[in-house]
Amino acid sequence: MKNGQCPKCGSPEVFSNTNRKFPALNTMTIGSGNFGNRYAYLDTYVCVGCGYVENYVAKQADLNYIKEEWTSVREGNNQVHDSSSEDSVSLGFASL
Ligand SMILES: [Zn+2]
Repeated sequence: MKNGQCPKCGSPEVFSNTNRKFPALNTMTIGSGNFGNRYAYLDTYVCVGCGYVENYVAKQADLNYIKEEWTSVREGNNQVHDSSSEDSVSLGFASL
């Protein structure tokens, strides 16, 4: 996607907000604490051919935070998950 070609439909018409003509529009909550939630700005790529969207955390500092505070999918495989919350976990941009 970042190379300018849509991975879904192959269209070369991929647009992004990374030129910052306007402030980053999309954020993601990546943590919470006594001083409020922590948000990460997202770089968004949109294919205007098929509408497919990809988001990337924009700042390395936020990626570092996630690395510290979140559970690695690979390393977390042996942990017990609350199966009732599984559905809400997969709200992201699933492959079609
Ligand atoms: Zn597309």
